[in-house]
Amino acid sequence: MSRIDLHLHTTHSDGSFSPAEVLRLAHKAEVTALAITDHDIVSGIPEAITAGAELGIEIIPGVEISSRIGNTELHILGYCLRWQDPELNQRLAALRESRHSRNPQIIEQLRSLGLDVTYEEVRALAGTDSVGRPHIARLLMDKRYATSAKDAFDRYLAEGRPAYVARELPMPADAIAWIRAAGGVAVLAHPTWAKVTGEGLNRLLTTLKAEGLGGIEVHYSTHTKRQTTEYLDLAKRLNLLVTGGSDFHGITKPDIEVGTGRGDLKVSKRLLDPLKEAALFASPS
Ligand code: AMP
Ligand code: ZN
Ligand code: FE
Ligand code: FE
Repeated sequence: MSRIDLHLHTTHSDGSFSPAEVLRLAHKAEVTALAITDHDIVSGIPEAITAGAELGIEIIPGVEISSRIGNTELHILGYCLRWQDPELNQRLAALRESRHSRNPQIIEQLRSLGLDVTYEEVRALAGTDSVGRPHIARLLMDKRYATSAKDAFDRYLAEGRPAYVARELPMPADAIAWIRAAGGVAVLAHPTWAKVTGEGLNRLLTTLKAEGLGGIEVHYSTHTKRQTTEYLDLAKRLNLLVTGGSDFHGITKPDIEVGTGRGDLKVSKRLLDPLKEAALFASPS
């Protein structure tokens, strides 16, 4: 039974498996096409393409950009983009810079709570320029300050917890525009983060669509049947593309596997052609 997975993280951001390792897991799960969607970085794509060619897995270039509107953090996935585009890469570098401004403040908070941690340790553990809170969570696990990533977030790192520091984030409209300028299709990731349903979500998606949003991540590891149905209906109603993926991270989300999520995820390969066609349409060059 072939399936696809359009939402995966690697060691190039806060995932714990390299692109080649993710591809091996995808192969085992009978995934025939996948998108690497690291946070604010595209450097994992070449390794994925090489491994994909060996295993017969099609690689869709992708990225995930965090944005904020009001008090709501929304993640925008970009697909089929010209990932080497210099302007896009400048934008992504600036987003990574905002991580390096925020992260030491998180470390300061943790230190003031008595935890012996430094940002140098986090950077060494991360081994990439796109450093996120899951890396800090992993350091806290390594040092036995937390028993799991969830524990680290619940105790220290999540919004409202003592070491939470907000990061400067672009508006969704900006993230969408950057993706489209690189010929990509912009998709709203894990729409539950919008914290609205029904008419509220309809309004939000209508606004985002006017700003250039092309699709919505209907199929996702943690979605209930009811959520999947609601998002599918909204996609149809608003003429948005349907996508889906696991949001695999490895050890910081230990219950989620490549291709199958929590076991019941199945993203159809039929979703792929419309996505690629939309990108072609967006990008004549
Ligand atoms: P950052 O981009 O550095 O602000 O970190 C946010 C990322 O942390 C999200 O994209 C998720 O991948 C991850 N994350 C958020 N909450 C949790 C949690 N409770 N457990 C594990 N990972 C989380
Ligand atoms: Zn992540
Ligand atoms: Fe996300
Ligand atoms: Fe993600």
